[in-house]
Amino acid sequence: MNIILLGAPGAGKGTQATRISDKFGLPHISTGDIFRDNIKRGTEIGLLAKSYTDKGQLVPDEVTCKIVEGRLAEADCKGGYLLDGFPRNLFQAQELDKFSKVDAVINIDVDLSLLMARLCGRRVCKSCGESYHVDFLGGKTTCERCGGELYQRKDDNEETVGNRLQVYTEQTQPLIDYYSKKGVLLNIDGVGAIDEVFARICAALKK
Ligand code: ADP
Ligand code: ADP
Ligand code: ZN
Repeated sequence: MNIILLGAPGAGKGTQATRISDKFGLPHISTGDIFRDNIKRGTEIGLLAKSYTDKGQLVPDEVTCKIVEGRLAEADCKGGYLLDGFPRNLFQAQELDKFSKVDAVINIDVDLSLLMARLCGRRVCKSCGESYHVDFLGGKTTCERCGGELYQRKDDNEETVGNRLQVYTEQTQPLIDYYSKKGVLLNIDGVGAIDEVFARICAALKK
């Protein structure tokens, strides 16, 4: 099954992606992770992406779409994939329709007013990418899943999060309507315990 995770920054896409990927054996493809990996390695794509991610703006569509098209053509995506963070605007959604068929779009719905606190308190594992929140770490600085070191993303600060939420409202939110009209949208209430939200997603996918 080809699944897309839709939702505002901080809605819990990455958190749920880990669980969905484990349960259904789908490769988790996060465009944000791909950009951060390129930035870390100092590649040409990384140098370009950094100027956008630092400001909370979208990396240009041509670059982003090419990366995703290439990634979905790899062998591990033959049996399906889980896309996290792509598409983020109408153009990307239309491009995706040209090179792949989307079976289900999980829209994780969280009131935007909750997201600043979620994102500014987020800590991420350097090794496996798992997300945590300072309020629930009890001072721990390593990852529960793999023991990796936790860090705070450079774009998880108030100013950049403000930009990211605006970009979401203007460019990404319209995709809810786009996929709803195609009849593939699954709306999930993203407020509640992480396991509860995961249970809602599993129930919706079963139908
Ligand atoms: P996204 O990938 O959509 O940007 P993340 O999965 O990284 O979001 O989660 C953003 C922040 O919110 C993290 O600090 C994470 O621990 C926290 N979080 C995720 N799911 C929930 C939830 N159901 N309730 C409260 N906080 C959550
Ligand atoms: P979040 O989990 O908070 O939603 P991501 O890790 O998905 O953030 O994305 C981080 C940054 O990477 C974005 O602010 C943007 O600059 C860039 N990015 C990720 N996915 C895309 C995309 N599909 N199109 C353009 N830029 C992207
Ligand atoms: Zn880890």
